[in-house]
Amino acid sequence: KIESEPPKKSESDTRKKNAPKQHISSGDPSLLKSRKALPIWTHQNEIKASLRDDNDVLLIVGETGSGKSTQVPQFLIDEPWCRKKKVRVQSDTVNVGGMIAITQPRRVAATTLASRVSREIGTPLGTSREGLVGYSVRFEHNIPKGTKIKFLTEGMLLQELLRDPNLRQYSAVIVDEIHERSVDVDLIAGFLKQILLGDKAGRGGIPLKVVIMSATADVEKIQGFFNPENLTSSVQLLRIKGRQYPVDIKHTTKPVSDIQEALLKRIFDIHMHEPLPGDILAFLTGQEEIEAAQRLIEEYSATLASDVPKLLVCPLYGQLSIQAQQDAFQPAKKGFTRKVVLATNIAETSVTVPGVRYVIDCGKAKVKQFRSQLGMESLLAKAISKSSAIQRTGRAGREGPGKCYRLYTSETYDSLRDADLPEILRNDVLGAVLTIKARGINNVLSFPLMDFPDLESVEKALIQLHFLGALADDGSITETGKKLALFPVSAPYGRVLLAASEPQYDCLLEVIDIIACITAGENIFYQLQSEEAREEVEEYRKELYRREGDILTYLTTMQRYAAENADRTGWCRKRKVNTRTMKQALNIRKQLRGICLKEKMLAEPPPPDPQPFVPMSPEGAAQLLRCFLRGFGTRCALLAPDSSYVTVQGKHVVAVHPSSALHGRKRESIMFLEHVFTQRSYVKKVSAVQADWIVEVMEGRG
Ligand code: ADP
Repeated sequence: KIESEPPKKSESDTRKKNAPKQHISSGDPSLLKSRKALPIWTHQNEIKASLRDDNDVLLIVGETGSGKSTQVPQFLIDEPWCRKKKVRVQSDTVNVGGMIAITQPRRVAATTLASRVSREIGTPLGTSREGLVGYSVRFEHNIPKGTKIKFLTEGMLLQELLRDPNLRQYSAVIVDEIHERSVDVDLIAGFLKQILLGDKAGRGGIPLKVVIMSATADVEKIQGFFNPENLTSSVQLLRIKGRQYPVDIKHTTKPVSDIQEALLKRIFDIHMHEPLPGDILAFLTGQEEIEAAQRLIEEYSATLASDVPKLLVCPLYGQLSIQAQQDAFQPAKKGFTRKVVLATNIAETSVTVPGVRYVIDCGKAKVKQFRSQLGMESLLAKAISKSSAIQRTGRAGREGPGKCYRLYTSETYDSLRDADLPEILRNDVLGAVLTIKARGINNVLSFPLMDFPDLESVEKALIQLHFLGALADDGSITETGKKLALFPVSAPYGRVLLAASEPQYDCLLEVIDIIACITAGENIFYQLQSEEAREEVEEYRKELYRREGDILTYLTTMQRYAAENADRTGWCRKRKVNTRTMKQALNIRKQLRGICLKEKMLAEPPPPDPQPFVPMSPEGAAQLLRCFLRGFGTRCALLAPDSSYVTVQGKHVVAVHPSSALHGRKRESIMFLEHVFTQRSYVKKVSAVQADWIVEVMEGRG
């Protein structure tokens, strides 16, 4: 009789068990080959070495596409200092470290990078509950069990900093794209500097490693900022040479008056005459322009003969849902020979769109600009800088020699400024001041910043925060202020949410619906070009419009959309409502409801869709608008005898934007949520309010 022996553990099994986990080699072999070809690959050991021992700060400068964002976190996760450790902090035993955070200025970059890196490592996102890579962006989180590399937007890291000033879960923070110099990245740099300079007691003595990465670094400024005498070691610097093929740059001979027309011509000229493969990347200013261009291209494509190769149009902008972005990163789908990606400046350095040989640059970008004298922020399409133009051109030469068509003249190019000012110098600093205050730093002027905004705009922000109830009379942060800093919406919207949950207003679900529509995209309604289209659609849109203005119109739209059971896409098509934006709005609504439940602002979960549509009564609408005034009371205007509107604060003349439901209508006084400057000073998202409500809220009686 042969007795069976219990199976012995093979030697290799034991070895596998005892050996440290090697993540680098476990990934997809076909991707490993392309990873090894990246310029950064040969610097792997140097990068690891420069963060060992007492070296805590590394600055990496390398062109877009050299592999910084995808490879650096993978190089570092197996380093000995990257393990989770149990330590004593005061009288508690806590875990410190184990994860790497990598920040991105934009959602699109955070999500696509997480998806790419998870595939490289071999634990693709969404395929299992476990994995080494996750992401966290506003209104969307995907953090599998076992996540070691977390891509997150700068705003999300700031929120984590408010909850945990020592960033205990992380062994390292990688700050990517610092050259963009967003307000948030400047704040992160300041907080990280405080952690580096601090006594590490809050981290149980475990240091935090910091890697700063940039495509076009102002090296001295960053090094100088992180390099004060009292840091234990100096900032290491590593430069990586990228790979770049020559790009043939073509300017127009005359200034272009109609960008859309010039763009359309150029795209089809390339498509019909330039060899395949070779995708097109066009830089436009924003969602509205991209959607208009997409419609034009698709309409024109439909008129072409059936033997003309098919062109796939992929929009790419920050507000786009994650699924909708994916097309831009894949090879053109079956049935299409070429794709054209219509992108905002997110495709400049943030994300790499593979396959591009042709770039079309409209020469403009939408930037937030703060008009200090008006005390408000506006979104402006402005000429880009030379540095941006060069980055855009570079996108054509990533995979082979390329061509870049600039829709402006070479004289215009020569007149561009060299680089953009950091956002903190041209932006509203309301959010920044609130974040600093919420971290318990009472004297904002003492906070370390690479560039300090002018005192006037800081003062304006302090006054505004006081109006919102975020600061007490002595300037210290209030409980309301702390809550506002943690909401994933800007402080005025946060204030409206808080007010809506008070019994006197009691309209939280409605306010959530409205804020969801506003934050989901630039506009839920398509702008209608022709008179004919307008007439046809107005018939359907009539049921959405409310005489009180845009806020109530948003509410009706969301409620009717959510009440629609059968064919939501068809419902949107008839009314020329943007389906994509509405889907995103529903998602944001869900997230905001979740937050309000957690914060106990909502007593119970709202009933599921579809719910029958019940129009809000005029009395209810009045309460809702008064509630909005709690956040936007400083943005009101009164009708002047000559039928113009004059702002209550600052006494500036403004006009109601054509996209508003109140365009061309006269109301005694209005509240607006946004202010834009194009040819003239326009206000958007406008509602009719009563003058005595404004007085009430400004006197603190609201
Ligand atoms: P950097 O941070 O230096 O700009 P990345 O690490 O973002 O460089 O990108 C390195 C390379 O990885 C890119 O050139 C591209 O080939 C590839 N890559 C990055 N993201 C994606 C993606 N989402 N899909 C396909 N390839 C990608």
